[in-house]
Amino acid sequence: MDKVTHGFPPFIKSNSNILILGSFPSVQSRKENFYYMHPQNRFWKVLALVYHEPYPVTCDDKKKFLEQHKIALYDVLLECDIQGSLDESIKNPVPTKLLPLLKNSNITRIYTTGKKAYALYQKYQEKELDLKAISLPSTSPLNRMTEEELVKSYQVIQNKELSPIVDILLLWYNKEKRDLPWRKTNDAYAIWISEIMLQQTRVEAVLSYYERFLNTFPDIFSLANAKDDELLKLWEGLGYYSRARNLKKAASIIVNDYGGVFPKDYDAIRKLPGIGSYTAGAISSIAYHLPYPAVDGNVFRVLSRVFALSEDITLPLTRLKMEHRVREILTEENASLVNQALMELGATICLFKGAKCEKCPLAFLCRAYQNNEVEHFPVKGKKLIKQEVFKTILILNCNGRYAILKREDKGLLAGLYQFPEMENHASQKEVIAWCRKQKMMPIRIKKLEPKKHVFTHLLWQMIGYYVAVEEESAAFKWVSLEELAHLSIPKAYSYYYPSVNHFYD
Ligand code: SF4
Repeated sequence: MDKVTHGFPPFIKSNSNILILGSFPSVQSRKENFYYMHPQNRFWKVLALVYHEPYPVTCDDKKKFLEQHKIALYDVLLECDIQGSLDESIKNPVPTKLLPLLKNSNITRIYTTGKKAYALYQKYQEKELDLKAISLPSTSPLNRMTEEELVKSYQVIQNKELSPIVDILLLWYNKEKRDLPWRKTNDAYAIWISEIMLQQTRVEAVLSYYERFLNTFPDIFSLANAKDDELLKLWEGLGYYSRARNLKKAASIIVNDYGGVFPKDYDAIRKLPGIGSYTAGAISSIAYHLPYPAVDGNVFRVLSRVFALSEDITLPLTRLKMEHRVREILTEENASLVNQALMELGATICLFKGAKCEKCPLAFLCRAYQNNEVEHFPVKGKKLIKQEVFKTILILNCNGRYAILKREDKGLLAGLYQFPEMENHASQKEVIAWCRKQKMMPIRIKKLEPKKHVFTHLLWQMIGYYVAVEEESAAFKWVSLEELAHLSIPKAYSYYYPSVNHFYD
């Protein structure tokens, strides 16, 4: 067997946002030296069309393309032996464990191409990463989908999860932000002091300390030379004295290693005593406009509610993934404001107890709010266990008018409309008996596809029946399809929405 060589190993950069997994290089492709896609495979063409760019032909073009769009590519095959190959990456090009990749990059979303890659990801990797992959169709010529259809499916890779919140959040922040002294400076030293003071201390309490501290230690040199007694006295009442000690230690390092100038590099800031990823992100973005996230408890609360995140927020991986999500939407222009706006929203609106959702700019897309589950988030400790609920949804049709009900004003999906339903999975006989009890005579009945809907703490397992009835029961409101279109039917019931379902025919 000939030795196989290629110039395009699996590709990933530390700033990659998207990871695409697939069984890209067929054995035959590799033998022909077309690592990362045989020309007959439409993968590169489809990607180029999605991003409105020229088709990358050479390996260098492809690498540049991936880098520019922050895409990482990896082969998902578990084992790929090509006998005789001396190249390790060909023998097993697959990272069976993606965790290190996730930790050492900015991966936010994972896509798989083709059914096989999706199945392998689900089987071997999804659990470990606790990150669902989005399945994309295969671009192989064996897949009959047209190029246009493929491009349409692949457009999903451009959707950043948090993009929809940016403009609305910044509009709100510009209007509603509190007037705080540390918001009037770009001085990294002052921002650093304020951030350390604000850790686990209320803004109102910090205000007077901040002013006194900066009057006593106006710069890094004075802090580095501070007498311990004076420093700790000044800190009295703020608690956590180790924070004050770390401030002094870090100031000495800045004086000794950086000539007294606060470092401008995120990694250098992160290495200073007492500075974690949150504080490093806050200083980098607010003082230097670097696109690093600052995810503190407030931000975590807001975003875990917006996403209705069932992951345990005390786990480091959950935090890391949240930081990646935020980082994906940050630019040098917006990083400072987006980070501060998220913190402000958490501190003033999305409160731990008594969130003021009616005043929240994100209410329109907040999953926790829309499912009436705000108090379930953030999840700390064990992952939420979903309770299974079995239901039978009934699409009752009387001469083109459909039966609906308004839900109660409190609780899950409060105040929205739904189709009538029965508890548990009912048989056809039980549905007929139920209709008669409601004083309706069924004239035609048809079982509909089972559907499931996932809430954070609930899993609805639904079956449905279409029932044509002879007369309208007074137990329900009856509406035409046109009237139905004006009512709010929650997603959980919309699977059985009469106008979109061919299975009523
Ligand atoms: S709608 Fe409510 S729960 Fe959701 S982010 Fe806003 S304040 Fe928080």
